[in-house]
Amino acid sequence: MRLGIIADDFTGATDIASFLVENGLSAIQFSGIPKQNITEEPDAIVVSLKSRSCPVELAVGNSLAALEWLKNQGCERFYFKYCSTFDSTAAGNIGPVTDALLAALDFPYTIVCPALPVNGRTVINGQLFVHHQLLNESGMRHHPVTPMVDSNVARMMEQQSQGKAANIFYPELAKGNEYLAAKMAELADAGAKYLVLDTLDEQHLNVIASASANLPLVTGGSGLAAGIAHCWPKVSHIGRSVEACPQPSSAVVLSGSCSDMTNQQVAFYQAKAASHALDIERCFNQSDYPEELAQWVLDNQRTYAPMIYATADRQALSKVQQQYGEQQASQAIERFFAQVSVLLADKGVQNFIVAGGETSGAVTQALKVNGLRIGPQIAPGVPWVRALDKTLYLALKSGNFGDPHFFAKAQELIHE
Ligand code: ADP
Repeated sequence: MRLGIIADDFTGATDIASFLVENGLSAIQFSGIPKQNITEEPDAIVVSLKSRSCPVELAVGNSLAALEWLKNQGCERFYFKYCSTFDSTAAGNIGPVTDALLAALDFPYTIVCPALPVNGRTVINGQLFVHHQLLNESGMRHHPVTPMVDSNVARMMEQQSQGKAANIFYPELAKGNEYLAAKMAELADAGAKYLVLDTLDEQHLNVIASASANLPLVTGGSGLAAGIAHCWPKVSHIGRSVEACPQPSSAVVLSGSCSDMTNQQVAFYQAKAASHALDIERCFNQSDYPEELAQWVLDNQRTYAPMIYATADRQALSKVQQQYGEQQASQAIERFFAQVSVLLADKGVQNFIVAGGETSGAVTQALKVNGLRIGPQIAPGVPWVRALDKTLYLALKSGNFGDPHFFAKAQELIHE
């Protein structure tokens, strides 16, 4: 049995791969859909797309192509992985991609399980929480690309898809996996296409994973992956790859997330290392800017790696967005990070610590990192990874992940 995972962004992919590996499954990860077949024999294959905020048709097309490729690699069960904060808009892309995958697998329903209790994402009475705040009252309300203005998962799902959603509330989870499987089938018979399950803790994830073990497709954040690993029929226990442990070499921190946690991480790290705030204006109109900052990175290699950051608080972010336009600003900044990464890799930098899902996608794409082995975990859902075919180590963090000391902690693993 092999699990095929389609992740809607790059850090989301490493996040789920890390949970699988920490729970004993072997996993390899690819950025985009590989042209060749795999030669390894992993329990799970993760394909990361950049489909979280691209046009709906593109997200659907790429997800279906990923499904086809995964089927050809022997995958029999599938998992559509999105962010534990349900990053999406009224247009998608979580709903349309789920609909397309269900249609391709010719199955009438699936589960919707964004919860990641270890990182404070829980679903209680159908509402998604980020720690003690409702999703729409958390920092996600101000996300630059997918501002989350609701927290009712069923309502968000229905808004962006073609079917009906139904809730299963937490008292029912206490009745065990057989009861839950029967309840899911009953709700599906009554016409529900998306079953939104309350999830307060890891125990709930285990029950949900075993109750949904016969579904060809599940959807959710990375939390459910740990539950699936626990009830997986054959666990190879290969786990993490020793080759993916980062080695002492030049390093850089590139921070392109504006999440609350990344703002804290940048502030903490500024006290430890050389840091440079990105001049957004120059990203637009100075082609030698990446070259200049690449040199600055090389000149500032000390105990802790130098950091270039676009990370800004809400006020500064909205000022930039008003001045340049949201999309234009995002693209110019992502392009800068992509270009500076290529220049640094050419000059021998081997360790890249990157904050931000889209930012990580842009960096890995530019570095032509296609396949990854999963290494030691820095924080829940954030491992060091190593490119399959080159000596490049990456720590790729989605915005809100990790604690305030994340950037330094990642480097402390290099020297262990
Ligand atoms: P997260 O994981 O927090 O969602 P992402 O990298 O996915 O982070 O998204 C953040 C987006 O915000 C990126 O497209 C990035 O280029 C953009 N961005 C970062 N800093 C700024 C800024 N100062 N002004 C405008 N946009 C920014």
